[in-house]
Amino acid sequence: MIHPFISGNKWRKLKYHLAEARTTSKTHLVTFGGAYSNHLLATACAAAKYRFSCTGFVRGEVVSNQILDLCRLFGMQLRFTDRESYRSKKELFNNHFSEDKSTYFIDEGGAGQHAVEGCSELVGELPQAYDHIFCAAGTGSTAAGIGLGIVRNSMPTKLHIVPVIKGGENLATEIGMYSNHLFSLYSDYHFGGYAKTTPELLTFIKDFSSRTGILIEPVYTGKLFYAIYDLIRKDTFLPNSSVIAIHTGGLTGILGMLDRFEF
Ligand SMILES: *Cc1c(COP(=O)(O)O)cnc(C)c1O
Repeated sequence: MIHPFISGNKWRKLKYHLAEARTTSKTHLVTFGGAYSNHLLATACAAAKYRFSCTGFVRGEVVSNQILDLCRLFGMQLRFTDRESYRSKKELFNNHFSEDKSTYFIDEGGAGQHAVEGCSELVGELPQAYDHIFCAAGTGSTAAGIGLGIVRNSMPTKLHIVPVIKGGENLATEIGMYSNHLFSLYSDYHFGGYAKTTPELLTFIKDFSSRTGILIEPVYTGKLFYAIYDLIRKDTFLPNSSVIAIHTGGLTGILGMLDRFEF
């Protein structure tokens, strides 16, 4: 609901990057993402809105799709990068832009301290203190921010994190670095790995969206809501507990996946 393209947590993750770029007089944002990256699209749109120029390094071979075309519409220059070089973002940045003092580096997904700060602010916007708060995790910055926000607002809320990647249990250390708030991490809801789906997940998404009018997508929020419903079924919560799920946006991500659904 924050913005159609600078969507959900991506706006919060970018906020302090944009502020720092502005105060340090940088005029060109440089960032990184996959070919369907919500972060690339959010950065492209935010750059246009706040009058920065921008470059996006895109992981993998040259491809064309609606998300990348939207990035271009917002004026982002795309540089397709083989997977090997893509691994080291700082090196890529230095190789292409070390001489250019106008550039501002934003890591893949905007991850890091600025992102955590931005995401921590969502906790203060909640209308009540919930017993449980759920969010999906890719890098874990959003989850770390929510943990920090809970601590700062002295809330009794329990934090539940659903990694959407394989090996999500490894996010615990990183997330734990930003606050001492305890959390539960459910690493079994990745459905095969990042952006992987199963018929069961797709059926759930279709069922959920058609019953509620709330669109969820297979990469993040679909896995999140699946996990919540599964945990409810397994009696994880006391009767009458209040549970809030953070819908992190990213709905344009579904465009590349509609052909996986069977209608
Ligand atoms: C990027 C993204 C996430 C993951 O956020 P992290 O801070 O990397 O954990 C979750 N949901 C959506 C919709 C996203 O686009």
